Amino acid sequence: MKKRVIVTGGAGYIGSHTVIELVNAGCTPIVMDNFSNSTKEVLVGLHGILGFEPEVEEVDCADRSALLAAFERIAEDGSIDGIIHFAAFKAVGESTQLPLKYYANNIASTVNILEAAQQHGTTEVVFSSSCTVYGQPEAIPVDESAPMPSAESPYGYTKQACERIITDFAASGYPLKAALLRYFNPIGAHSSSLIGELPLNHPNNLVPYLTQAVAMLRDPLTVFGDDYPTPDGTCIRDYIHVMDLAKAHVAALDWLGKQSTACEAFNLGTGEGNSVLEVIQAFERATGVTVPHRIGPRRAGDVTAIFADASKARRELGWSCNFSLEEALRDAWNWQQALGA
Ligand code: UDP
Repeated sequence: MKKRVIVTGGAGYIGSHTVIELVNAGCTPIVMDNFSNSTKEVLVGLHGILGFEPEVEEVDCADRSALLAAFERIAEDGSIDGIIHFAAFKAVGESTQLPLKYYANNIASTVNILEAAQQHGTTEVVFSSSCTVYGQPEAIPVDESAPMPSAESPYGYTKQACERIITDFAASGYPLKAALLRYFNPIGAHSSSLIGELPLNHPNNLVPYLTQAVAMLRDPLTVFGDDYPTPDGTCIRDYIHVMDLAKAHVAALDWLGKQSTACEAFNLGTGEGNSVLEVIQAFERATGVTVPHRIGPRRAGDVTAIFADASKARRELGWSCNFSLEEALRDAWNWQQALGA
């Protein structure tokens, strides 16, 4: 598979790891990022891993004319065979405070990307979605046929809306082939510790907060509630190593290349649920380091338990996870230590 692929948000957490897997698969990634929630240090890390720096277009995907101009420049050097669209704001809490910021950015970017795809005859699009589209599912593990309830946050609504926009465009006559990838909880980092998750502010997600708390950069971890109806009372999620997630994007592109028409959603998770306390224990087993933590009140809006039925991705994409929770947490800790060095 030798495709030239635009990776919007390619300097971000999942995007940068996907750039590596694209190169490993023989593709040429072109990073498109405005570095609004990432730094150019990521490019140094990518250079260290790949031995070269990928091509970068610094552009805001929500800026229609700038985005179309960037596509023109890229098209001068050859065909644009695919687009993986990661670029989006992703902080659930912030989206409730600043909904217009989320709607303007996440939705406009997706519309602009599709318009650019049409202008350049690009038919393969992979979209970065989230299991948040399911809310609190009625049954777990959750599969792709589960209903989408009314979104709990503006962020969640942008994922539902963008999936719908892509689906509508694929049904409109333009021969778009799309994979809507619904991520569960990505954690960990590349084994080199040259790239990883880089929360620029206070981390909201469990694992980046946990590693910063262990590194004593933050107060002890607060476990948000231990009175949920789960075996140990803490919430359950499906934590997936970011390199496993990255590989799924390559598998999705490969799959799109073999389809004549397609607009399909895929769950990307391990299929296993782990509670917050289990994550703490797994971290301690994997690293030998104790996690300072205390039990606190519930966090508003948290779903009790969700994990993936990822059998569709295994069946259709031939993809499944290789890394364990311990390995992912070990890589997250190695990355945290590299950051502190
Ligand atoms: N969590 C926690 N303390 C934290 C951050 C998260 O106990 O400081 C819990 C949170 O309540 C949830 C799980 O860890 O049960 C995963 O949270 P995260 O924000 O990483 O992912 P999401 O809730 O979006 O799936």
